[in-house]
Amino acid sequence: MPELPEVEITARLIGDAIKGARVESVLTPGINALRSFDPPISAIEGATLSGITRRGKLFVIGTDAGMSLLVHLMSAGRLQLFDTRASLRDRTSRVLIRLDDGRELRLREFGTKQAAWVKLYRDAELDGDEQLSTLGPEAWPDPPELGPLLNAPRPLHGLLRDQRVIAGIGRSWVDEILHKAMLSPFKRGSELSAEEATRLRDAIISELGRAIEHYEQTLQLPIPDKLPMPLTVHRRNGEPCPRCGDEIEAVFYEDYVMCYCPTCQTDGKLLKDRRLSRLLK
Ligand SMILES: [Zn+2]
Repeated sequence: MPELPEVEITARLIGDAIKGARVESVLTPGINALRSFDPPISAIEGATLSGITRRGKLFVIGTDAGMSLLVHLMSAGRLQLFDTRASLRDRTSRVLIRLDDGRELRLREFGTKQAAWVKLYRDAELDGDEQLSTLGPEAWPDPPELGPLLNAPRPLHGLLRDQRVIAGIGRSWVDEILHKAMLSPFKRGSELSAEEATRLRDAIISELGRAIEHYEQTLQLPIPDKLPMPLTVHRRNGEPCPRCGDEIEAVFYEDYVMCYCPTCQTDGKLLKDRRLSRLLK
């Protein structure tokens, strides 16, 4: 599940590698993947790519044609660069940007859902995109003070993943961040003390920074389908807490799991398993 660190390292590695490459053609085998029609996607054929930047969990692929591609991987997408062209039988292909040196920049998506998307914008219109224009401040490297930003009566676990509140954090890294900050996932943003808000901000910076540093040291092109995420809490339920050694617990939701250490984060309290309470209703 690509979040800020995974998108950041992908933008760095692939952005450097494609800088100066010319677009030969663009194919869109994913029928729902291309979400814009004006300008047409063919407008960047012949353009030179200028690199890739990250905005929250989205990519912006720049060109010298005054247009940029905005890419959202959603939960199962990958942006990858290949030396050769995709087989037309590859069912993960959503958008294929063929470069005139034979390489191919590919938006792929695993699983059955078709949710990942690409939009082509004229540069002047990019910031008006409904996703970009509603993004909160970047979670990394320098998020604003969190006291005012998170001052809402909503649980931290949802608040930190709300891209309109703060951009870049998702289901994996929120568990690591809250564990690092020793805060309950269900503590409300409006109930954070000044000291807790500072601790949480420090944890966001250090956890996302730790992940990016790990990827800088371990990854090179081609980026693998499955990134080696350096997680210590998320999806580690049943394993010992890396800080106190107690068992990491989980709350299961329909399509994801939230992990935490009761000793470090909830004064020893076990959070209600929503899956179970729904069954008992
Ligand atoms: Zn612990």
